[in-house]
Amino acid sequence: MQEQWVFLAVIALLVVGVAGGGIWARRAYRRLSDRHQSLVVVHEFVQQATVTASVREQARGLLLRTRQLLRAGRLELIVFDYHDFGDRHIRIGANDAYASTAVSGVGDRLLDRVMDTGEPMLLARGTQDVEARQWLQARGARDALAVALPSSTRGCIVLLDRLDGDTFTDDDLTMVQTLASHLVMSLRGSRLVEQLTHDATHDALTGLGNRTFLSQRVETVLSGPGQVPEAAVLLLDLDKFKEVNDAFGHHVGDALLREVATRLVTTVGDLGTVSRLGGDEFAVLVVGREATDAAPTLAHNILEALGRPISLVDAVVTTQASIGIGLAGPDLSEADVLRHADTAMYAAKEGPDPVVVYGEHLERGRTERMRLLADLHIALERDEIKVLYQPQLDLRTNAIHSVEALARWEHPVLGWVSPEVFVPLAESSGLIEQLTHQVLDQALAQARRWQDDGLDLAVAVNLSPHNVNTMRLVEDVASALARAGVPADRLVLEITESSVMADPDRAVSLLQRLVDLGVTLSLDDFGTGYSSLAYLQRLPVSEVKIDKAFVMGLADPEQAHASAVLIRSILTLSANLGLEVVAEGVEDAQTLELLRSGGCDLIQGYHLSKPVPADRVAAVVERHGGREAVRVPGPRSHLSAVNEDGTLGRHLA
Ligand code: C2E
Ligand code: CA
Ligand code: CA
Repeated sequence: MQEQWVFLAVIALLVVGVAGGGIWARRAYRRLSDRHQSLVVVHEFVQQATVTASVREQARGLLLRTRQLLRAGRLELIVFDYHDFGDRHIRIGANDAYASTAVSGVGDRLLDRVMDTGEPMLLARGTQDVEARQWLQARGARDALAVALPSSTRGCIVLLDRLDGDTFTDDDLTMVQTLASHLVMSLRGSRLVEQLTHDATHDALTGLGNRTFLSQRVETVLSGPGQVPEAAVLLLDLDKFKEVNDAFGHHVGDALLREVATRLVTTVGDLGTVSRLGGDEFAVLVVGREATDAAPTLAHNILEALGRPISLVDAVVTTQASIGIGLAGPDLSEADVLRHADTAMYAAKEGPDPVVVYGEHLERGRTERMRLLADLHIALERDEIKVLYQPQLDLRTNAIHSVEALARWEHPVLGWVSPEVFVPLAESSGLIEQLTHQVLDQALAQARRWQDDGLDLAVAVNLSPHNVNTMRLVEDVASALARAGVPADRLVLEITESSVMADPDRAVSLLQRLVDLGVTLSLDDFGTGYSSLAYLQRLPVSEVKIDKAFVMGLADPEQAHASAVLIRSILTLSANLGLEVVAEGVEDAQTLELLRSGGCDLIQGYHLSKPVPADRVAAVVERHGGREAVRVPGPRSHLSAVNEDGTLGRHLA
């Protein structure tokens, strides 16, 4: 029934729209000719509905118009749960007096029936129906009609007291139904416009203003009165947010961002306006001389507020952030100020001080980064990335059967650049795929050469999270193995948990395909970041590498206990899951013996050998039992050597 009238209204629009042109339209028009008047009315009505008006203005205008069109003495609109209207009872009386009150329910049997069934109600003048008469009497009306609002909106429009001596007819009823659907549609339309305007300048997650909002604000301030406007933009970027997001999932990441937003707003108070620029980037705009002078202090207060532990669904995290401050100045545009804040923020991220105020000297650091990136590009093009190999000692056989491939870059001017510098650079610029492929190809070609020399060594290659999220990984690895002529079981791929957390299901199935190829997977840097032991079970890895921070911690009196506890739990867990354990960062004999007595399977570290060029690997292998040594997985005795208090062996008991 309702759909029919919406349909009719659409036809009506068409008819008016084409001004009688077209046979179809004319036929439709004839069919509806007796309602000619009504169509004109609908057309006028729709034209009145301008999408630019606010929802409330719109509703008011449409309702006033409806009362006039239907020549009713009074009109009532009852809506439930309608967006920001909530539950409303709007009454329009004679002289267009408009009253809007909150309503909790109708408590009216007849109107409830209209809303429940969608059937309209027509109470004509002089009706004999007892309930109808009582209803009219209670409202002091002679006649009335009521129609439900269409579709999902619960509510109704009631018209009371037809003016000019007539009474409401079926035609009026259908007319009101048509108007009701237009009312709802156009309210939705203007609601949408309001929503869109708000959305365009606000962040849905935190409700804060967004980048556009900030830019507009800064521009307003800069173009304001006064010769040199006093304003500062604090640009804040959370450190390691990605790790939280990857490790715990987006819902936890979102919760963290909301909490950060709340803390920012509370800390900043009246001093400024907080916006979220996207991701984990926030900004605070402070205006006025005092505020700009206070900007660095405010920045430190913010860091302190963010440093307090934040309880999330599955975890408690502490966030650290870096803040860059850009100041308004003569001849600076809005874009300049934001760019300065951005440059300062990068300097804060890289330097020792988490708060940095922009100064011209900072431009150099940025330029250097860009230059280094350009050079890395060239180095990759020219195959200038070298690979060193760090041997791993199998404690069960006391022999070396594997090496880890580690990338090295000798910059023509800067000399050796650490992978801690160029790997992140490659990761952030899309060069990582190329880097990984080059290291993989070199390492496999080298493995082939060792095989040919009678040296059976497996090589471990590091994968970046980005690599694991690349669809072609399996194909690329398979073809690299084929090119080098190396069996898949001589390749170990080292992944980190953050590679997996972004999209665990996809990553797990991709990793499984690598395992199906015959490749061994190793979980690198285990114990750092947001390692989740629960996840370990799901991953098709057969080895975990205890992060060197803990291994090196064993030799440090202050950290020995904590490190031993962690290593113990990794060893226990790995034994239960049937995983091999590699400890890296073994720098002395005592640590090696501790790990051996704890049941660790393999060690890697300066004590055995630093990463060395390929041609020096054989010498290290010779020193440790030579080429004949066979790799025999020994009995797993982790638990026996781990003390109850978490210490390893007898040494730390
Ligand atoms: P990682 O994968 O944890 O590699 C182990 C790092 O520990 C290496 O640093 C190695 O030289 C160092 N190391 C080994 N034994 C000891 C020790 O006894 N004491 C100390 N203090 N350090 C030790 P490196 O070569 O500087 O590499 C640093 C990181 O750069 C690597 O950490 C890895 O995350 C990354 N990386 C290196 N090469 C590649 C690569 O080809 N691809 C990717 N994606 N990342 C790489
Ligand atoms: Ca590694
Ligand atoms: Ca590692």
